[in-house]
Amino acid sequence: AQVTTAEFVKSSVRTEDCPADGIPEFALVGRSNVGKSSLLNSLVRRKRLALTSKKPGKTQCINHFRINDSWYLVDLPGYGYAAAPHEVRTNWEKFTKDYFLNRETLVSVLLLIDASIPAKKIDLEYASWLGQNQIPMTLIFTKCDKRKKKRNGGKRPEENVEDFQNLIREFFQAAPPWIMTSSVTNQGRDEILLHIAQLRNY
Ligand code: GDP
Repeated sequence: AQVTTAEFVKSSVRTEDCPADGIPEFALVGRSNVGKSSLLNSLVRRKRLALTSKKPGKTQCINHFRINDSWYLVDLPGYGYAAAPHEVRTNWEKFTKDYFLNRETLVSVLLLIDASIPAKKIDLEYASWLGQNQIPMTLIFTKCDKRKKKRNGGKRPEENVEDFQNLIREFFQAAPPWIMTSSVTNQGRDEILLHIAQLRNY
């Protein structure tokens, strides 16, 4: 699996404004600083593709990138900005949840989770919401190259990954697929692309 072409198509504020050509799409979402831009760039091997403003409240947009002229990679704004005002967060929740619930061409949400730190409440809440609403999800664990540091309780990425899966299990009928990645070593890059190819061919 290879990305041969990647083009930015459009930014939409509402689900109704998203591209209407019916090609399948995969949405990348995660807490701010989880490594989403790095992963996006590693996936498409283009440094300047993910040029979206990182300021909370500035780009509350659904960004569509067309890959290989056959599927969309959708960049959603990150959640969990401590600095974002309450009404910005509420608005964000409303529009992303509307997207998840109503976007018919959405094949799977790629939920990014930082594997170098213990599970965060906001990530657990997010994953369980997707599970409870039966939205197909793939867990993409990021920063798997980061080895233990004092401040993360001394756990290895593998242990954080296992803990996270155990904590969300009850919200899913079947355990969601998961992939361990690193944008530093490109670990998991091919696996993500293969996973997407397999889901598209169902
Ligand atoms: P975003 O806010 O989710 O788009 O996160 P960024 O891609 O900007 O990354 C946030 C920080 O994490 C940056 O300092 C990156 O260098 C770092 N980072 C991202 N991915 C990785 C990774 O796979 N491994 C390591 N060690 N650091 C990473």
